[in-house]
Amino acid sequence: MKTQLLDGRQLGKALTDRIRQELELAGIKPGLAVVLVGDNEASKLYVGSKQKKAQELGMRSFLHRLPADISEDELLGEIEMLSGRDDVHGILVQLPLPSHMDPYRVQQHIPPAKDVDGLNPFNQGALVLGRPTLVPCTPLGILYLLSAYGIPLEGKHAVIVGRSAIVGKPMALLLLEMNASVSVCHSKTKDLGLHTIQADIVVAAVGRPGLIQKTQIKEGATVVDVGQNRLETGRLVGDADLDGLMGHAGFLTPIPGGVGPMTVALLMWNTLLAFLLQEKPKAVRLPMLEGIHERLFGHLNLPLVP
Ligand code: NDP
Repeated sequence: MKTQLLDGRQLGKALTDRIRQELELAGIKPGLAVVLVGDNEASKLYVGSKQKKAQELGMRSFLHRLPADISEDELLGEIEMLSGRDDVHGILVQLPLPSHMDPYRVQQHIPPAKDVDGLNPFNQGALVLGRPTLVPCTPLGILYLLSAYGIPLEGKHAVIVGRSAIVGKPMALLLLEMNASVSVCHSKTKDLGLHTIQADIVVAAVGRPGLIQKTQIKEGATVVDVGQNRLETGRLVGDADLDGLMGHAGFLTPIPGGVGPMTVALLMWNTLLAFLLQEKPKAVRLPMLEGIHERLFGHLNLPLVP
């Protein structure tokens, strides 16, 4: 069987090129503020690529670096300050946070309309209720990728491995929105392979290299590998045995160049959407909101906020 790789790098670039053109045409400059607490090396890299992309697209990009020993209340104060700024349309607090902070409390402080990571309880609730607006970027990027490659979702069986609020759960909800039948597995699931072997689509979001093997995947199935694991050799690998799956899976995301670039691209989309949601009351460019959404996401059947 020939395996087709899902090229997130190329698709992410096509989407961000489109966003850059829209911003230029409309003469608007959405602002994205990224808050980084502490010195986590991986977080610094992620934050750097998000900032770089925002700048490339002509957005305003602000980085707020805070020491790891800052108190939770001080972080909340920083978020409140950013929330009140007119030039900041999207706020993203890079995870993970130091262990003395409660991520739920922190996400709750980001106003829903500026919550470009889609982790505020309001936005997560809107997704549960079938009215997604600002949705976590990684699952939204995966949905965009599957859709762009014409992979059918309706009536298909999707198995999600991992149930985090930022990947697994919203992924399951988005696929439900697309009329797939969804199973969610996690660390307490007994015999993971028994579930994944039945799936037309497997999304692995765990953080364990080699967890998903060829023997656990139906021939011709789609495997989306979200995991990002840095081996001692320095090589970046996912959760699935990609070499073993070549020639067995129907579609497969590579690492690097699969899900990662889609996450960054959809963060840019969410920042644009946040801008439009906030500027909407000023009504200068209201038709653009629906126009852009329709052109970029109409086929995904994702409604905008009413
Ligand atoms: P979390 O640690 O929050 O969640 C991991 C999930 O995996 C949990 O639900 C856990 O179950 C489950 N799990 C752990 N061990 C097993 C196992 N043996 N079998 C089945 N399930 C298991 O991670 P995230 O969701 O934040 O991230 C997951 C991976 O995706 C990481 O490698 C991360 O780096 C990567 N990532 C990549 C992104 C990208 O853009 N490419 C973006 C975001 C994340 P339980 O709930 O029971 O503990």
